[in-house]
Amino acid sequence: MTVPRIRLNDGTEIPALGYGTWQLDEGAVPEALGAALDAGYRHIDTAHAYGNEAAIGRVIADADIARDELWITSKLWNDRHGRDATLRAFDGTMERLGLDVLDLYLIHWPVPMEDKYAESWQAMVELREQGRIRSIGVSNFEPDHIDRIVGETGVVPSVDQIELHPRYQQRAIRDTLAARDIRIESWSPLGQGEIMSDPTIARIAETHGKSPAQVILRWHLDQGLIVFPKSTSPDHIRSNMDVFDFALDAEQTAAIDALDAADGKMGPKPSELGPIPLSE
Ligand code: NAD
Repeated sequence: MTVPRIRLNDGTEIPALGYGTWQLDEGAVPEALGAALDAGYRHIDTAHAYGNEAAIGRVIADADIARDELWITSKLWNDRHGRDATLRAFDGTMERLGLDVLDLYLIHWPVPMEDKYAESWQAMVELREQGRIRSIGVSNFEPDHIDRIVGETGVVPSVDQIELHPRYQQRAIRDTLAARDIRIESWSPLGQGEIMSDPTIARIAETHGKSPAQVILRWHLDQGLIVFPKSTSPDHIRSNMDVFDFALDAEQTAAIDALDAADGKMGPKPSELGPIPLSE
């Protein structure tokens, strides 16, 4: 299975579909990630806060896959903002993952009440200049947070990873990010599993002989969004990758577009999440 790649504003090319690992316990990593790699996933989305970087690092080290075929993303946690803390946190992530170069490093949340995300961004710019990271980006950043880091460094993030699924489509910020050539990664692309029973999605899925999850992932990909659904079920892991042999027509796309809902947001408001200390 060859997954299409999307060219980022720094020239790197990220696989459009990957494997998400939030709430994937260390103990579950070998079987689940093993199934994902067997199914052809080459893009893994993790974070310091997920507590599974070391387990992921061990699976990658044991897998017979060339490093340049893999795309690994990790994220700086909220209690490590500031220049020195960011550099130390990055070293920790790389040690746990067992990597020399990271493909993509993101600031996980802006934590504006601490007002140190611009310092973290500066540190990430330095790490990229040193060749230790290929691409740098942000997550859960709103346009004013992005303006701030670009204003202070002149460096535009390559991606913003934000909550985005059929019930929360983020149309306004999508236009703003597109105008700045910042690619969107949709987090919780399947709405954490809760939109799979929607009758509109079920109807479209039946038409194609596909699952609701496959229809939703196709909808993201059609709009140039980068996705990494999470599952521990080998069957779901495989089927979530099998989305390149059918197309949604204009009516089906419009029907999913119409599911956007005022109360569709599932996660915290980006500017409200605080530093929340991690133990290590
Ligand atoms: P998701 O939208 O990927 O949904 C996962 C849920 O859907 C799980 O309960 C899973 O069992 C179920 N599921 C998956 N495939 C299925 C299938 N084919 N059929 C039926 N059920 C299926 O949720 P997520 O894990 O929140 O988001 C994906 C990834 O996004 C995360 O793992 C993580 O990597 C990233 N993420 C990032 C942030 C952030 O703040 N940057 C926040 C949340 C998630």
